[in-house]
Amino acid sequence: MRPYLLLTPGPLTTTDSVKEAMMSDWCTWDEDYNVGIVEQIRKQLVELATSRPDEYTAVLMQGSGTFCVEATLGTAVRPSDKLLVAANGAYGKRMGVIADYYHIDCDVMRFEETEAVDPARIDTYLTAHGEVTHVSVVHCETTTGVLNPLEEIASVVKRHGKVLIVDAMSSFGGVPIDMARLGIDFMISSANKCIQGVPGFGFVIARRSLLEQCGGVARSLSLDLYDQWRTMEDGHGKWRFTSPTHVVRAFMQAMAELRAEGGIEARHARYRENHDTLVEGMRSLGFRTLLPDEVQSPIITSFYYPNAEFDFKDFYTKLKERGFVIYPGKISQANTFRIGNIGDVFPEDFRRLTQAIKDIEGRKAF
Ligand SMILES: *Cc1c(COP(=O)(O)O)cnc(C)c1O
Repeated sequence: MRPYLLLTPGPLTTTDSVKEAMMSDWCTWDEDYNVGIVEQIRKQLVELATSRPDEYTAVLMQGSGTFCVEATLGTAVRPSDKLLVAANGAYGKRMGVIADYYHIDCDVMRFEETEAVDPARIDTYLTAHGEVTHVSVVHCETTTGVLNPLEEIASVVKRHGKVLIVDAMSSFGGVPIDMARLGIDFMISSANKCIQGVPGFGFVIARRSLLEQCGGVARSLSLDLYDQWRTMEDGHGKWRFTSPTHVVRAFMQAMAELRAEGGIEARHARYRENHDTLVEGMRSLGFRTLLPDEVQSPIITSFYYPNAEFDFKDFYTKLKERGFVIYPGKISQANTFRIGNIGDVFPEDFRRLTQAIKDIEGRKAF
């Protein structure tokens, strides 16, 4: 079932048991599916995301993660509101693009891709711009692997009394987050990231009192997060349109496996060990990380090309032959490639990866 390991930020390497969970067919309108699977997932997601589950609710939405980001911005931000997006990578910028599509009044605060979002700049901006109603930020910028200081950012946004929207796509499930303690209002993630499911849907965990007020705001029918939630809430796990049933069933299995591993703290520790093993091995071979260790997440790691002659395509192909699929870089200022630390992968896999890289690159003088 595994021609190679995916060392990528999703879809990622899943267990055989998650894939096997897709072997039965479910009826999208039957209660075995709605109550037995969808409602269980919604409840468990809220419990994973917050210490005050009564104040939050979860909505699942067909599509990839971006569909959920778009659904959230398009449903939570009214035409009369103003949005501030803090962006230090492609996913932050994408929220600005979504805002443009929806004609949302939006300012994008840009940061270097190799630095974290600075809460002090958000503070200064919000002090000068009282008209802002919503602030959105990416937690782990998968573009580079920067982990933004969510706690400090949330504290500033809450002090100014703004609604806080967090794209925690690549961190939720792999990095502990307590929405209630931080004051996060909407948090977005998807099935194929740190929960280690397969791709096909995303989800939004929302402050119930705020989502309840979002009826009639959406400018898209299929991405109306409120209407999707209303149907799931009133229909006890019903989806408005055909749901990715097999993928949802696999996700329930993935959540059970997250619990069996010891929950988010334990998974975070494994990802960190994966990352540390990777970086130690790569540095021993002479590779340099793009980011300073202080802003580096345990999710995905960017490395500079080792020299001017480095041929990424060739390196990629040779690693793939040896059982590892890695990721190209995504920034313009430097030549980099990325290696993901998430999924059903372990420190031993990263030791084998380092050995494989040594075998490939060792024959060249570098
Ligand atoms: C994966 C990811 C997304 C969503 O990407 P899709 O390709 O739409 O699934 C959004 N934000 C971040 C930070 C991500 O890592």
